[in-house]
Parts: sequence; C-alpha cells; structure tokens
Amino acid sequence: MKALVVGTGLGGMTTALRLRRRGYQVEMVEKFHQPGGRLNQIKKDGFTFDMGPTFFSMTYEFDEFVRDAGLSTMPFAFRELDVLYTVHFRDTGKRFRIYRDLDLLAREFEEVEPDFRRKMDKFLSSAARFFHDTEYLVLKRNYDSLFSYLLTLLRVPLRHSPKLFRSVWSEMERHFESREVREIFSLVAFFLGATPFDTPAIYTILSYTELVHDGYHNVEGGMYRIVEGLKKELDKAGVPVHLNTEITAYRYENGRLAAMVDGSGTSWNADLFVVNADAAGFRHQVFKRKKFSAARMDKMQWTLAPFTMYLGLDTRLHDIPLHNYFLGNNFREYSGKIFKNAIKLDQPYYYVNVVSRSDPGSAPQGCESVFVLCPVPDLRFKPDWSDRDRLAGNILSDMSARVGVDLKKHVVSQTLMTPVEWRDSFNLYQGSGLGLGHNLDQIGGFRPKNVDEEFGNVFYVGASTLPGTGLPMAVISSKLVVERITRAYGPIHT
Ligand SMILES: Cc1cc2nc3c(=O)[nH]c(=O)nc-3n(C[C@H](O)[C@H](O)[C@H](O)COP(=O)(O)OP(=O)(O)OC[C@H]3O[C@@H](n4cnc5c(N)ncnc54)[C@H](O)[C@@H]3O)c2cc1C
Repeated sequence: MKALVVGTGLGGMTTALRLRRRGYQVEMVEKFHQPGGRLNQIKKDGFTFDMGPTFFSMTYEFDEFVRDAGLSTMPFAFRELDVLYTVHFRDTGKRFRIYRDLDLLAREFEEVEPDFRRKMDKFLSSAARFFHDTEYLVLKRNYDSLFSYLLTLLRVPLRHSPKLFRSVWSEMERHFESREVREIFSLVAFFLGATPFDTPAIYTILSYTELVHDGYHNVEGGMYRIVEGLKKELDKAGVPVHLNTEITAYRYENGRLAAMVDGSGTSWNADLFVVNADAAGFRHQVFKRKKFSAARMDKMQWTLAPFTMYLGLDTRLHDIPLHNYFLGNNFREYSGKIFKNAIKLDQPYYYVNVVSRSDPGSAPQGCESVFVLCPVPDLRFKPDWSDRDRLAGNILSDMSARVGVDLKKHVVSQTLMTPVEWRDSFNLYQGSGLGLGHNLDQIGGFRPKNVDEEFGNVFYVGASTLPGTGLPMAVISSKLVVERITRAYGPIHT
C-alpha cells in the first residue's frame, strides 16, 4: 500500500514516519527547495535564522510521536525556557519578564496589579479545568460529521459555556485590572494569529499551557534541528523526498484519485494521498471545489500575515533578552484595525528573537542574528508590499530607540519576507501565516476535514485541518490523520 505525502511541513513529516512504521510504502513531494514548510531556515552572509517558529509548548506530543513512530530516540534536544518572554511597553518604557515561577511572576507585577498571585491562580485554575475537560474529549479527536462534533460538545461540562461567548480580552477584564497584565496575558491570541478581541476565551488555555502545564521550549542548535532530525529518520526509513516539486493537478480514474500531477506534468501514483499543503487552500487551488471558491475562501477568517526580518548585526545586543514583545500605547485600536489595514504601520507592534543569544553558532563572533516578526494584514487587505522597506525602517528606528543601539548602523545582512513571499514559498492562502482562523465556526467539526469529501483516498494533515495551528497541533494532526487512514486501510503487514 503506497502513500504519497504532499508537503514536508511538520505535519507531513510526522505523518510519513507514523505511516512507515505501520508498514506503508511512503514517498513525499515538496514545492519548496528545503523540507520543513513554515518550520524552515535561512542561511545568509554567515548568519543562520529559523524562518518561522521560535518556540513551542506541549513537548509531550513529540514524545508520543517518537514512541508511535518507533524512533529509537528524540531526533533533536528541547530546551525549556526559564523566562518565557519579556514584554516592553513603548510609552512607559517598562518591561515585564514572564516567568513560569508564579512567585517570581507575582513580584514582576506587584506595582501594577495588587493581589496578582491570587487573581492569577484563579484565572489559571479556570483555564486548567477547561484544558483537562476538553483535551481528550474535544481536541484530540476525529469527527465523522458535524452532528458527532456537536454531540461531543454537549458532553463538555456546562460551567465552561460562558468561555464560548466571551473573548480573551473580556476574560482578562474579568480577572485583572491593570492595562499591563490584561495586554500581556492576552498576547496568546496573537500566537493564534488573531487578536484578543475576536478570539474566544476558550483559548486562555494557552496561558495555562505556557505558565503551568508544560511551559515553552526551543531546540538546541535552532528550531530547524527538528526538520534535520526528522529528515534523517525519513532517510533511514527509506522514504524518498522530492523537493522543488509542486502538485498542480490530479488524475481521477475508476472512481478514485489515481495520481497527483506536478507542474512539469509528472504523475505521482499512489493508493492513498496525504495533503500537508493548506487543507482549504489545496481544495481551492488544485481540486477547485465550489465550497472553496475564491469568493468563499475570502469570506473565511484567516490568521494574520507575517512580515518577517532576518537581521545580521555586527554588534552584540546586551540589553535585550531572547524572546521579546514590543508593544505600543494603543493596544485596542491597533488590534481592532490591524487585520483590515486600517492602521498606519509607522508605530508597529512586533516580536523580536535574538537568535544568537541561545545559539551562538548562528552568528559570527561578536555579531548577533536577530529575527523580527510583525503581524500585518493579509493580501486581501494589503496586496501591495512595495513599501516593505519603509515598514522595515520603522521597526528598526523604533527598536533602536528602545534598546539604545542605532541598529541601522550595524545591519550587515538583511532579508525581508512580506506576506507575498510567505504565500509564494509555501502556498499560504493570501499570505496568512497560521492558516485558517480559530473562530468557533472554523474549529472542530466546522474545520476542513482531514478526509476529503469526494475522494475517499485523500487525507489532510496540518494547520488548517484538525485540530489547528502551531507545532504541537501539527503533531497531533498527524496522529489524527493516521488514525483515520488505519481505520480505513489497517496497518499493513510487509
Ligand atoms: C512567522 C511564523 C512564526 C511561527 N511561530 C510559531 C511558534 O513560535 N511556535 C509554534 O508552535 N508555531 C509557530 N508558527 C506556526 C507553525 O509554523 C505552523 O503551525 C506549522 O509549522 C504548520 O505545519 P504544517 O504541518 O501545517 O505544514 P506547513 O509548514 O504549512 O508545510 C506544508 C508544506 O506543503 C508544501 N506545499 C504546499 N502546497 C504544495 C503543493 N501544491 N505541492 C507540493 N508541496 C506543497 C509547502 O511548501 C510546505 O512546505 C509560526 C508560523 C509562522 C508563519
């Protein structure tokens, strides 16, 4: 039984290894020139950068994967972050370190939020109850129909239902008084590519996963070690990976999908197909389904697009920690307008990762490699990025003032990726960075299914199908799709 996996994102690679373990013959095709999808790498001018993800939670999903795929060891080494991240405010100049240790965290906020520890404990225990009541019941589950999803929701304890109707921001307002605490702990919505004002309060579970449950981790030697490690395992398992190969068409014969066809006209035959390309985007672009027509796709909620900068500096930045969020002083207005390009990007909000702080090998001696991520509107709302240098300049000026170093004088290498490059590199719809949004009508039974509606031998894995976006979710997604495939075809005995 042969499976063709289209795409080498984390979801695709972990699916390939799980299937191989079950005796399937597996082959992979990938549009980009390197494996990894959004979890990719840029090397330039002596500097090395992770292209997208910089840290992740729920490491135990990787442990589960290693066991399930029968790997002898974890193919890369995690490192737990002690300060999860630091948040900088533009107007007051204040910075807050987000510790996992709740006593240290309480000390950080004692000036702005009296009684912080008690309030935080209450907030986190509510999020914890929701997480543990739904993790196995709702999140890590395949749905055969919308009806079965709705039935499952009925089994979630009723006390959680207000979280469905409140936003992350209103949940913050219920628990905390200070602007600083509200803004900082609602940043989790941005991790989902949305804003706290339009993200349901159920996602405050991310505060629980970051602060209590499993924290945040990165990878020794950089995040791309995950991909390099998995690629070695694919080589060992005899899974061929064909790069620079984009699927653009298909062949349908005798009531089933017989082959995917690439841009050069080559047919890739298999018994079954797992699509790791965006689950909505592929149905739109390749299968040309009515339900995923351009008009319908544009009406869906898509996550914010990334504007990313990869900077090589010929100096060290001693005063700035590893992971940083730089916020302005108009959080609500900025959040409300950023999606629709109704705000000027002259005073942007952005995230900065000083890559060489944790991986000195990523920059030459005495230098620093720095990654900047600024969430921006997707290409529906801002199709023209000819002003990319202006935005990059605004970020550099703002950051220079805030870290006390004139960065423009020290940039010796600069690479920019606007939503256009993100779209073109990985087929991300309208350049949206994290795929389909996580509104209530786009999650669970409402999200594009991981089995195709028309072709029974086509399956999907990754951020825009079940369960959602982020690295641990891609690993869970591979578990769910492999469950589905083995339910249909069984483990193969060779
Ligand atoms: C800037 C940025 C920062 C992020 N930061 C974090 C973070 O810190 N922590 C975290 O957990 N998550 C983060 N994420 C999210 C995370 O990267 C994604 O959720 C995850 O990597 C998605 O994996 P996936 O399996 O869906 O596949 P993808 O990474 O989307 O890979 C799919 C692959 O399919 C290929 N493909 C597409 N179409 C075709 C085709 N027609 N033919 C052949 N190949 C095709 C693409 O080229 C791509 O390689 C970030 C994302 C971005 C963009």
